Parts: sequence; C-alpha cells; structure tokens
Amino acid sequence: MLSDALKKDFAAIVGEQNVMTEEADLHAYSYDAAPLDQRVPGFALRPTSREQLGKCVKLCNENGFPITVRGSGTNLSGGTIPSKGGAVILTNALNKILEINEEDLYAVVEPGVITAPFAAEVAKRGLFYPPDPGSQTVSTLGGNVAENAGGLRGLKYGVTKDYVMGVDFFDVNGELVKTGSKTVKCVTGYNLSGLMVASEGTLGVFEKITLKLVPPPQTAKSMMAVFDDVMSASRTVAAIIAAKIVPATLEFMDNFTIRTVENFRKAGLPVEAQAMLLIEVDGHPGQVEDEAAMVEDICKKNGAKSVSVAKDAAERNKVWQARRDALPALAKLKPTCVLEDATVPRSKIPAMMEALDKIAKRYDLTIGTFGHAGDGNLHPTILTDKRNHDEWVRVEEAIDAIFDEALALGGTLSGEHGIGIAKSKYMEQETSRATIEYCRRMKSVLDPKGILNPGKILGPLLAE
Ligand SMILES: Cc1cc2nc3c(=O)[nH]c(=O)nc-3n(C[C@H](O)[C@H](O)[C@H](O)COP(=O)(O)OP(=O)(O)OC[C@H]3O[C@@H](n4cnc5c(N)ncnc54)[C@H](O)[C@@H]3O)c2cc1C
Repeated sequence: MLSDALKKDFAAIVGEQNVMTEEADLHAYSYDAAPLDQRVPGFALRPTSREQLGKCVKLCNENGFPITVRGSGTNLSGGTIPSKGGAVILTNALNKILEINEEDLYAVVEPGVITAPFAAEVAKRGLFYPPDPGSQTVSTLGGNVAENAGGLRGLKYGVTKDYVMGVDFFDVNGELVKTGSKTVKCVTGYNLSGLMVASEGTLGVFEKITLKLVPPPQTAKSMMAVFDDVMSASRTVAAIIAAKIVPATLEFMDNFTIRTVENFRKAGLPVEAQAMLLIEVDGHPGQVEDEAAMVEDICKKNGAKSVSVAKDAAERNKVWQARRDALPALAKLKPTCVLEDATVPRSKIPAMMEALDKIAKRYDLTIGTFGHAGDGNLHPTILTDKRNHDEWVRVEEAIDAIFDEALALGGTLSGEHGIGIAKSKYMEQETSRATIEYCRRMKSVLDPKGILNPGKILGPLLAE
C-alpha cells in the first residue's frame, strides 16, 4: 500500500497524473497474455523521461517495493504479472527512436518504442530490422529484448539477441549501467548486454537499447506447400534443412489451425489440407530462383500435394497475414488459450508432432499446432476453459507431458516466449540445480531485496 507521503514522493518524480492507484487502472496491469491468475499491483508509475525512470527504480528499491516493468504486456509467460502491492512501471511514454544511423547500421531507441513502426521507420531508410514477433504491432522493443523475442524470420535472421549491440539499464539502486557499443565489435568487459537479453526484468531496467540494422534482401519468393498428412509436412521441414537451404521463413500449420484461420479471415487457405508449410526464400534474385526451385522439388518429393508460389506482393502479404492470424484466430474459439513454445532440434519435428497428437488424445484435449517449424519452434495451442476444473487439470498434465517430450528429444522449454512464471517450475529439468543456484546467487547480489520482477524465471525468491 502506497502511503500518502510516498505517493507525493513519486508524484514529485513523474507528476501526479502518472502515479496510478485507482482500482480500475491497477486491474488493467494485473495480467498479461499468459493464462495465469491475475495479481493486482499496489500502484503504477508512468515515467515520461529516462531520468524519471531511474528515479522511480531507486525510490521503489529504497522502500522495498517489488517492480514489474511493463511494455505492452503481450508476453506469454506471465512476465508482467506483478507482485501484490508492488509497483508496475509503464514504459509507453519512453517511446522515442533516438537515432537511426545509416552509415554505421545501428539504431538507438527508448524501451517503449513499438516494434513494427520501428521496423517501418528503419525500412524507410533502406535498412532492415528482422525480428518480427507476431505481436509486433503492439509489442515494445524493451519487451522484445527482455524476452529475447523471435518471430517468423528467426530461421535465417536469428532472434532479438542477434540484433542487440548494447543495453543501458538502471541497476536496482537507479544507477545507470552502460553496456555494449555502437561498433560492430566490442569485447569490453563482461557481456552485460548478453546478460540483459532474456532477463525478463529480473536484473535491471532498460533505459536505452542499441540495435543492429542490416541491408534488406533484394528479393523474396513465398510458397505454400499443401500436404495430405502431418508427417509428410514435418519430414519436409527436416529435408529442407538437411539440404542446407536456409529459408527466411519456414512455417507450419496443422489442419485445425488452417480451418480456424480460414474461418477468421477468408484468405483462400486449403481447408482440406492436413498440414501446410509456408516458405519464403530471400536474397539475391539468382539465389532466390535456385532455392525456390530446390524447395519446390523437396516438397514434392516428400509428398506435397501442391506447391503454389505467391504471384505478387499482395498475394504474399495475404499468406503471411494468414499465418500471423493463427494465434488470434485460435484464441477466439474458447475462453482460455494456452499457447506453448516447445522447441526441438529440427530433425525431431516429426517425432514431436507425433507426440503432440498422442498427448491430445491421451488427455482428450483440442490442440492446434502451428509454428516456426524451420527453427524447431512449435506452438502447440491448447483450447480450453480454465473454469472447467477437470479439463484444466488435464491441460496442466498435458503441458507437463509436452515439455517432458520436448526435453527428451533434446529440445528446450522456450524458443522465444521466455520462462516467466509459467515455466519456472521446469527450469531445473532442462538445466541443473547448480544452474538455478548460480543464477539465484547472481540475482541476490545484484538485487539484494529481490524487488526486480520477483518470481520470474527462478521461481519465488522473495516477494510474490
Ligand atoms: C498475438 C501474440 C503473438 C506473439 N507472437 C510472438 C512471436 O512470434 N515471437 C515471440 O517471441 N513472442 C511472441 N509473442 C509474445 C510477446 O509479444 C513477446 O514476448 C514480446 O517481446 C513482449 O513485448 P511487450 O512489450 O508486450 O513486453 P511485456 O509483455 O510488457 O514484458 C515482457 C517482459 O519484459 C520485461 N520488460 C519490459 N520492458 C522492460 C524494460 N524496459 N526493462 C526491463 N525489463 C522490461 C517485463 O518485465 C517482462 O518480464 C506474442 C504474443 C502475442 C499476444
């Protein structure tokens, strides 16, 4: 509970209108995109300058208030579910692109800049910022860095961490820590920028991010391959990679997802297909022609019923919009949508698809699967209603089974959505007790009161 005196102290930093204590405001910041229980914070702060951000962190620490920084709250792992009574710090007013450097190919941004408009601004200068989470029209770059967000182009272009050149952040005392550089190479000291990526707000609060930009590909070709069975499609993914072709994008949708998306937005998808691959190759025109022909050939040899190539940009956009619609379309079907993020080595996709099918049957659940098959990152999506207690118990068992299977296949808990609260209980299963203890020791030195987004990644440390 924020005392009147402290409310005044925070108001002196951010202005009275940017200290929120009304119930309606606080409920708006009590949840995110993960289907977890809400927790209402004690208050919310909206700094409008980076200096104010640092002062807020310092004052929260001095008074022992847990801090959860919130970009757009689109994360799928409970990363922005605050501590009861703690502070939510909003970054939506820290939304300036500070520099786009066309000579040295980098940009400097505040953490609240929204991903898609930033990428568009970069594109206007003839450059390219590849990370493209499905949520890019609303997600922030701060949230992307804190989650190490991926996207459709991850296969060829990598994920957010591959574009972070530096992160300046406030430590828990509100002191500014500067990491990385605007140079292509920088090995000055510990790789603190690397440490900040995927730290989910548990180690520091970003105030400025330096991002690498690259030249855009000269041309691209998008293809849609349609299959009569899921296994042929998953084998095709493995075969494309084994042929040493790295498409920009190689996405998978199962029949349930195809039909749901088609109902949501009439994009002309093949509703009878058991599975579909959406593939884009890009680069030099000659290379694109060659790779597109090889991909088509591999698809057909592995049982594709048809392979169609988008004729123009409009057709290409339609296909990709359909893929981006997968999650919102599925989410509309039932009150609760559990989007998982199990990732396996690419050669294990057929085995994972088979396992998902068995898990859906064993627990009598509807699971639609789509995802970034090219990088082994599948999004099995369970459609349910959390109020149905019996079904929810089966959902939780199915989630355990999905991660058991992914880890048994040499995979990982998260390809891109982070650990947050949702997956902290599985951390030791993928890593080791010593790993958790190492991270906890580090956290307890950097954040002795445990106020930086407690409970995320490492499980409960102090505040809940
Ligand atoms: C429809 C939909 C599609 C999605 N598609 C993808 C996808 O394709 N790929 C993907 O990777 N993810 C995807 N996501 C998940 C989500 O969008 C990403 O995790 C995104 O990076 C979160 O950004 P955000 O601004 O919403 O961050 P938030 O959800 O607000 O925060 C995420 C984490 O970052 C921390 N944080 C935010 N700002 C700061 C800061 N300044 N300093 C320190 N910590 C900070 C928060 O405390 C929290 O732990 C999707 C989500 C939805 C709802």
